[in-house]
Amino acid sequence: MDKQIRIALAGNPNSGKTTLFNKLTGSNQFVGNWPGVTVEKKEGRLIVDKEVILTDLPGIYSLSPYTLEEVVARNYLIEEKPDAILNIVDATNLERNLYLTTQLTELGIPVVIALNMMDLVRKAGDSINVKELSRQLGCKIVEISALKGDGVKEAALAAIEAAKSGKTIPQHRFSGPVEHALAHIEEVTVHKLPEEQQRWYAIKVFEHDEKVLESLNIPADVRAHIEQDIAAAEKELDDDAESIITNERYVYIGQTLKGIYKKKGKGQLSVSDKIDKIVTNRILALPIFAAVMFLVYALSMGSSIADGGIAIGTFLTDWTNDVLGGAWLTDGSRAILEAWGAAPWLVGLISDGILAGVGAVLGFVPQMLVLFLMLCLLEDCGYMARIAFIMDRIFRRFGLSGKSFIPMLVGTGCGIPGVMASRTIENERDRRMTVMTTTFIPCGAKMPIIGLIAGALFGGSTWIATSAYFIGIAAIVISGIMLKKTKMFAGDPAPFVMELPAYHLPAWSNVLRGTWERGWSFIKRAGTVIVVSSIVIWFLTSFGSVNGKFGMVDDLYEDDTVVTDEYVAAVAGRMGIPEDEVEPMDDSILARVAQPVSVVFKPLGFGDWKPTAATVTGLVAKEEVVANFGIMYAYDDQDGAEELEENGDQIWGRVAEDFNAFSGGHGRLAAFTFMIFNLLCAPCFAAIGAIKREMNSRKWTWFAIGYQCCFAWVTAFIVWQIGRLFAGGMNVAGLILAVAMLALIVWQLFKPYKEAQMLTVK
Ligand code: GDP
Ligand code: MG
Repeated sequence: MDKQIRIALAGNPNSGKTTLFNKLTGSNQFVGNWPGVTVEKKEGRLIVDKEVILTDLPGIYSLSPYTLEEVVARNYLIEEKPDAILNIVDATNLERNLYLTTQLTELGIPVVIALNMMDLVRKAGDSINVKELSRQLGCKIVEISALKGDGVKEAALAAIEAAKSGKTIPQHRFSGPVEHALAHIEEVTVHKLPEEQQRWYAIKVFEHDEKVLESLNIPADVRAHIEQDIAAAEKELDDDAESIITNERYVYIGQTLKGIYKKKGKGQLSVSDKIDKIVTNRILALPIFAAVMFLVYALSMGSSIADGGIAIGTFLTDWTNDVLGGAWLTDGSRAILEAWGAAPWLVGLISDGILAGVGAVLGFVPQMLVLFLMLCLLEDCGYMARIAFIMDRIFRRFGLSGKSFIPMLVGTGCGIPGVMASRTIENERDRRMTVMTTTFIPCGAKMPIIGLIAGALFGGSTWIATSAYFIGIAAIVISGIMLKKTKMFAGDPAPFVMELPAYHLPAWSNVLRGTWERGWSFIKRAGTVIVVSSIVIWFLTSFGSVNGKFGMVDDLYEDDTVVTDEYVAAVAGRMGIPEDEVEPMDDSILARVAQPVSVVFKPLGFGDWKPTAATVTGLVAKEEVVANFGIMYAYDDQDGAEELEENGDQIWGRVAEDFNAFSGGHGRLAAFTFMIFNLLCAPCFAAIGAIKREMNSRKWTWFAIGYQCCFAWVTAFIVWQIGRLFAGGMNVAGLILAVAMLALIVWQLFKPYKEAQMLTVK
C-alpha cells in the first residue's frame, strides 16, 4: 500500500488559510490541540483525494523562535517532515508573504504556492507575472481565490504532485560572506542531519537561534570556531547576524518582485490606500475611531428605535426583557406553580431564583448579538487591523508596542482568549503588562452590566454604553504608560510588524459564524454556570436568621412574635435605613455577609449590601452581577404592584429606585461608578485562571489582580468624589483625596520617560 501523503498548509495570518482549508477538506476535518500547547490543530482529508491529509499550521510571518505559533509550525515541519508544503500567499501583500516563503523553501520539503486573493488583484486591474515569479522562486504557483473557490482544486492537485515527486527546489543564495560562514557551519555541525535539512539548520545556527542551538548541543570548541566565522561576516557586512539574514531576504524579495508585479496606472493609489490615507491619518484617525465605536454602540446598546434612537439591539432587548426579565416570566411562573400546589420554597427557587436570574441575563442577548455582529464586521473588513496600527504609533512614544492592543481587540468577546493572545508578544515585561490590562476592555459578559446601567438609570443613553468601551481603552493606555515608567516594566518596545490587509467586503458567512460563536457561548453559560449560581444566590437571599430563628426570611417576617417592633428598629439601625424600609431580605445570609463588606464601596457611592453582593458574585461570572440583581429584586411585591405597573420595566425600575435611595439621590452617579468598578476590577475566576497560566507565577497573578482592583477602586473613587462636586453633596475630605490621587496619576503619566539603557549592538 502507498504511504499516506501528508501536506502542510502554511501562510501568514489573514492570508485566507482557514477559507482555503475549509474549501479543500469540506467536512472531513478534525480539530484538536497541538501537543502540549493550546494552539488549535486542524487536520482534514482532501476532497480530491481522501488518502491525503492536510494539516493547517498556525498563521505565521516567519520561522523564528519567538512566538508559540512559529515554534509549533517549525517543529512540525522539521520533525514530522510532511511530504509537501502548500504555501498560501496573499497576492495583495506579496512582499510580506514571500518572506515566509523564502524560509519554507529552505526546509528541504517541496513547496507549492497557492497565490490567493487573485480576485482582488484582478479587480484592481493589477497583474502578476506568475510564470516569472515561479521560475525565480523555483516552485510551482497556482493562482487561486479561496473565497470564490477558483483554482483551489488545481492547487491541491499540484501539491499532491509535488509530494509524490519529492523534488526540492533550487534555493536562494545569501551574499558571499554569509554563504562562506554557512558552508563552514554545515561542515562542522550539521553534517549528521538529513541532507535536505542541513541548510535550514546552518542558517538558524548563523542567526544564533536559541532553540536550534539548544537542540544541536554543539561542543564548546566547535561553537567557538563557528562564532569566529559569524563574527567575520558580521564585521564585513556591518550588522548583526540575524539582521543580515532578514535584510538579505527582503532585498532578494524586492529584486524578485521588480517587474513581476504590475500595478494598473503606476503611482495611482488603490481604493484601499485611499481609504487608509484618511482612516490612519495622524490627526483624523482617533476621532474616526471614536465615531465608529460610537455608532457601533448607538446601534447596539444605545437609545431604542422605539424611543427615537437607532439601536436595534436595545429595541429587541426591551422586548425580550418584557418577556424574560419582566413580570410575565417570574409572576406568570409563580402563578402557575402555585396553582399546581407546589411548595412555597420550590416556587421561590424556580420563579425568583432560576428564572429571575437566568432571564435577567438572557434578556440582554439581542443587544449583545448586534454588538458582536458589528465588531465582527469591523474585524472582517480589515478596520480593526488599522486600529492596532494607529495605536502602535501612539503607544510607541511611551515605549509600548501596538502588539499590546491586539489581545484587547480579541478581549471584546471574552477576556480568556484575549489574555491568551498576549502570547504573541515576545518581550516578557510587555507580555506581563498586557496580561494585566487586557481584561479592562468590556467583554461579552460585562455587556449586561452596561446595558442594565445605561437602560435602567440613563434611559438608554448611547453615551453611557460607549463610555464603557472608552473607559476600558483609557484604562489600558493609562495603565500601560504608568506601568512602563516603573522599574518592573521599563524597556524598549518590541518590534511590531503588522500586515494591513486590503479592505474587502466582509464575508457574511465568516461574520455570522463569528457572531454566533460568541453569542452562543454566552447563552451556554447562562444555561450552566448562571443556573447553578442563581440557585446558590437564591438560597442566600431567601434564607437567614431572623431574631434568632433560622428559615426562609419571608415566612419568618410574617410572624409578629418574631419580628417585633424593637427588632425592626434594630435591623433598621444595622442597615442604616428608615424602619419602614426594612424588608425580609435584609436578614438573609447574603445581606448579613455583604453588609460589612459594603464599607469598602461607601466611598464610591454604592455602599449598600445589594450592589456589594452583585459585585462580589461577579467574580464567578460577570453575567452574575445582573443575574444577582434580577434575583434580589424579583420579590413578589403586592403593595408596589400598581406603582411598578406604571414603571414598565419593573425589576430594573426597582434597581434604579434603590440606587437613588442609598446614594442620597445621586442614583445615576452611583450607578456609573458601580459600572466603572465592575468593568475594571478583577475579572471572573476563569479569566483569572487564564492570567495565572500566562503569568506562570503566583506572585505575578496576585499582583495583576491587586492592580486591577486598586485601579478600579481609585478610578471609581475619583469619579464619585469629583462628580459630586457638580451633582451636589460633596465631601471635602473625599474631594481632596480624589484630587490628590488624580494629581498623582497625571504626574506619573507626564513625567519624562527614562529610556532604558541603550544596548550597544554595533
Ligand atoms: P486566515 O487568517 O489565514 O485563516 O484567513 P481567513 O481564511 O480567515 O481569511 C481572511 C479574510 O480574507 C476573510 O475575510 C476571507 O473572507 C478573506 N479571503 C480569503 N480568501 C480570499 C480571496 O481569495 N479573495 C478575497 N477577496 N477574500 C478572501
Ligand atoms: Mg484562520
